[in-house]
Amino acid sequence: MPTIELTGGTTTELPEGEPLGSVLPPEAIAARVDGELVDLSHVPATDGKVEAVLPDDGDGLHVLRHSAAHILAQAVCDLWPGTRYAIGPPIEDGFYYDLELPGQVSESDLARIEDRMREIVAADQPFVREEISRAEALERFADQPYKREIIESLEEGEVPAGDTVTVYRNDGWADLCLGPHVPSTGRLTAFKLMKVAGAYWRGDEGRPMLTRIYGTAWPSEQELDDHLHRLEEAEKRDHRRLGRELDLFSSPEELGPGLWVWHPKGGIFRKQLEDYVRDLHLERGYDLVVTPHIARSVLWETSGHLEKYSDNMYPPMRTDTGDYYAKPMNCPFHVLVFKSKTRSYRDLPMRLSELGTIYRHERIGTLHGLLRIRGGTQDDSHIFCTPDQLVDEILKVFDLTFEILGTFGFIEPVINLSTLPGQTILQPEMAERATQALTTALDRSGLAWTEAEGEGTFYGPKVDFHFRDAIGRLWQLTTVQCDFALPERFGLEYVGEDNQRHRPVMIHRAILGTLERFSAVLIEHYGGAFPLWLSPEQVRLVPVADRHLEHARELASLLRALGLRPAVDESGETVGKKVRAAQLAKAPYVLVIGDKEIESGDLTVRDRDAVETRGVPFDDFAAALVDEAASKRLSQSRFGG
Ligand SMILES: [Zn+2]
Ligand SMILES: [Zn+2]
Repeated sequence: MPTIELTGGTTTELPEGEPLGSVLPPEAIAARVDGELVDLSHVPATDGKVEAVLPDDGDGLHVLRHSAAHILAQAVCDLWPGTRYAIGPPIEDGFYYDLELPGQVSESDLARIEDRMREIVAADQPFVREEISRAEALERFADQPYKREIIESLEEGEVPAGDTVTVYRNDGWADLCLGPHVPSTGRLTAFKLMKVAGAYWRGDEGRPMLTRIYGTAWPSEQELDDHLHRLEEAEKRDHRRLGRELDLFSSPEELGPGLWVWHPKGGIFRKQLEDYVRDLHLERGYDLVVTPHIARSVLWETSGHLEKYSDNMYPPMRTDTGDYYAKPMNCPFHVLVFKSKTRSYRDLPMRLSELGTIYRHERIGTLHGLLRIRGGTQDDSHIFCTPDQLVDEILKVFDLTFEILGTFGFIEPVINLSTLPGQTILQPEMAERATQALTTALDRSGLAWTEAEGEGTFYGPKVDFHFRDAIGRLWQLTTVQCDFALPERFGLEYVGEDNQRHRPVMIHRAILGTLERFSAVLIEHYGGAFPLWLSPEQVRLVPVADRHLEHARELASLLRALGLRPAVDESGETVGKKVRAAQLAKAPYVLVIGDKEIESGDLTVRDRDAVETRGVPFDDFAAALVDEAASKRLSQSRFGG
């Protein structure tokens, strides 16, 4: 009789031949035996530690979603006999199945497939695991060429090699699969099919195009609803749509994919962001530098970019003075500034800062609005310091990160330490020192962090800060990298207190990342309703009739003189239409100017929540706005009351 140690330390004897599920709570959908995932129907042969896998833990969600994929394929096979099914993995937030159907399937068929899935769920069919020989499997999947191909390629490491393969069967339908699965189809309660797409078998354009059906599945109806609501909310906030509606930027065909032009309103937004960041850096002891967009190949050879990073670089421009490359990073340029004269320990730390524009030839399929681009401007700085100053300087970067991102309401980051990837230019000893410095700084900061193995850059490990936006999505924003390699490659030196030459260390850091990507994040975070200081247009003046136009213009010029950004609606539309247009433009304040306002000299102020306040003295209004813009706060002041 195997002895089972349950979570919490209690032990129990499991009668011979009894499955694990009999000693686990009813909400369990799978189990972990000594760390390995198994079905609840698993009958252990030996003693072991057993943990219940619940639908809402990471592995549990995987099991649930993978089981949903089976039920999806089963439903499609029921509805379209002759369907050939390929693979159906769980993915983030859901699952998909790739299928070859005898006919066309479109999104209008999803409801029908869902209905059939619900019937299978209602029938509560048990998932039965079978181990069969490879020969038997080939026979069992005789009319399933994709499954046969997988079975035949078993040695190639897709499924553990061996003479047996595992099959999961429910009702008459079976799939080749490692499992585990939920005990029965009835455990899938909250799911929805999302869309239909095309996908090549094995991602190979030379192989057949299959139909991919995506779905989402959650432990409860509530979580499914929340997920669908988040998607809807994300859709409303999509920066590409808002960027167009607010007239901030565009990516015309003639520019090429991944490149963007900023329109006048976007230009003001960018200026606000850039001024804020630049001024704060100056306050914090950074120096500004300016560097060009291209440089000769020798620079990129020395830096190691041509060797390790050329896949992401635009091809060279051939000229009479050599090959030039558009810069994918600013680092080597800042190194050249450091190298321009002899440096003493008294000059260190030296913090060189630039809003530097970089070009990366990202794969076209990965481009996505302003979130994934081919040309953008980073708030990039490089800190050159002595090894002794390293940890303190990293801590100062953390501080600045909290100050800048806190301004936008980004707090409580999720922090990763990304260790070196396989491809690196670092000696093991340097890699160790760099990782050590980051670890020490993280520990001294008292922040919680986890390790992400192999996610660092080719010249050093890094710390990544991820922040949650207003609808709970995590965005990687800040990166801090510790680098012993570039100072070595460029032969950087400073004269120490001992009059000897020493090698400085470099910190690479970008707090916002590219301003393009950060702007996209901000647009989605605020849903386009920016705080006053970032709003391209802060006050929309709406004259009731043409005779009120002159007065509106006068008020606008008074506001402009105070450093505010007003705009007068000069269109001949009705007041209602003009107010509506101001709302669509997400103008923080709207002033309706009519006879009453001109007579009294007071204002009627409408804020973004459509709250209207009458009789606000102009001076009070102007002072409150100046105050609100300076505070950079999001909440808006109320007038009157
Ligand atoms: Zn499976
Ligand atoms: Zn750098």
